[in-house]
Amino acid sequence: LRNLVVVLGDQLDLDGAAFSGFEPERDRVWMCEAPAESRYVWSHKARIAVFLSAMRHFREALLARGWPVDYLASGAHAYETLAEALAAQLEALRPQCVIIVEPGEYRLHAALRTVVSDAGCRLDWRADTHFLCSSDAFAGWMRGRRQPRLEHFYRWMRKRTGWLMAGDEPVGGRWNYDSDNRGSFASDGPGPLPAPQRFVPDAITREVLAWVERAYAAQPGQTAAFDWPLTRDEALEALDDFIVHRLPQFGRWQDAMWAGTPWLYHSRLACALNLKLLNPREVCEAAIHAFEAGDAPIESVEGFVRQVLGWREYVRGLYFARMPDHLDDNALGAQQPLPAFYWTGQTEMACLRDAIGQTLRLGYAHHIQRLMVTGLFALLLGVRPRAVHEWYLAVYVDAVEWVEAPNTLGMSQFADGGVIASKPYVASGKYIERMSNHCAGCRYNPARATGDAACP
Ligand code: FAD
Repeated sequence: LRNLVVVLGDQLDLDGAAFSGFEPERDRVWMCEAPAESRYVWSHKARIAVFLSAMRHFREALLARGWPVDYLASGAHAYETLAEALAAQLEALRPQCVIIVEPGEYRLHAALRTVVSDAGCRLDWRADTHFLCSSDAFAGWMRGRRQPRLEHFYRWMRKRTGWLMAGDEPVGGRWNYDSDNRGSFASDGPGPLPAPQRFVPDAITREVLAWVERAYAAQPGQTAAFDWPLTRDEALEALDDFIVHRLPQFGRWQDAMWAGTPWLYHSRLACALNLKLLNPREVCEAAIHAFEAGDAPIESVEGFVRQVLGWREYVRGLYFARMPDHLDDNALGAQQPLPAFYWTGQTEMACLRDAIGQTLRLGYAHHIQRLMVTGLFALLLGVRPRAVHEWYLAVYVDAVEWVEAPNTLGMSQFADGGVIASKPYVASGKYIERMSNHCAGCRYNPARATGDAACP
């Protein structure tokens, strides 16, 4: 065997760097469902199912190309960790070389490198070409900067890509339409919403869901409403559905919340993006094309591009720049345990009940719920940042450490002491009242600062 190509659960791209130069006569693909990956944080069942089912669908896509795949399915092998399973495989196959694309979780870097070196194989460690800013380019951008800022990075990326640019100037004359992204619904609510396209579980997904319900019965979350896109074709359909039906209103209502309406105008694409079923380039280009065709306004398209080209790339760069110590960041010395209701949703605070209940039901909450409701409440309470991080990494279907950790530790908990967010802040209940209808039905009153009815 010439090359053994290791494909991890969030590297499901047939055009990914791992496959460059692949020859089916001389190379093999290796994939493994390792139980430790589902247990190292107390993962939501839907999150486990997303990874396992997407991996199994990817195996089918590889086999359809006629490429040889060694696939270790859950329950069909006795290994606990990826490293153990890979060590046994290398012993059995003795490939000349192992190809691995840099994993999105730092803990796997050392573990996989060690296994390959212990087996005496050559390691071809490849950069992840899925991102719009390579690790080297990010390091170059960071060099000499005392205080990195998203806005500077984002403008630099706009110029590099030429997206939404007219020469050297931003299209529309402004770099940033953030102030047009803060609409809140009137008291009669958001009105009819375009329901996102559903992806009804097929036979592979149903089998995975049944397995997860059995093997991980004690872990949190529900799977009854599970309908995520899990193949490349489904991910493209989900992208199209968002661009046509929700992107035009995305910008205006980006920060709004309304009880019982989890999706509003959000894309639901983070999961497919993070599994690498979608490429950020095609996602941004689809949005920009809608703007150029006159189908979506600038505040929606710029707002969306800022999230994907700006924030998503920025937090990835900062994650690798700050690891391995990042996970122990605790600039404010917070030491409280995470309240038990984060795992049940049973609280009298209506905004938290809605955000957590939806999270446990769907494995999803939108950005403002994650940041301004569950995130800022934990910050206000003084919860140990690592416990908050482990919760976020566990409960969202799109959670992978490179994107989750900087958002949680930096943006929401100020645990990094001001690298991502320029200052620590906690919004009051008044913010929640302005941006949602939660307070109207809540036992607590944001107008009260003291007493039994005061909003916590
Ligand atoms: P939309 O609202 O439709 O946004 C479009 C896309 O922009 C998203 O799909 C995502 O790819 C990207 N994006 C938006 N905001 C961010 C951001 N701050 N950082 C990186 N990318 C962004 N995102 C994850 O992908 N995985 C996580 O584990 C994760 N954990 C988070 C934890 C906290 C505490 C916070 C505050 C945010 C977190 N985010 C995470 C960012 C953001 O909340 C989610 O990307 C978004 O809610 C996913 O839903 P969507 O696809 O409908 O996004």
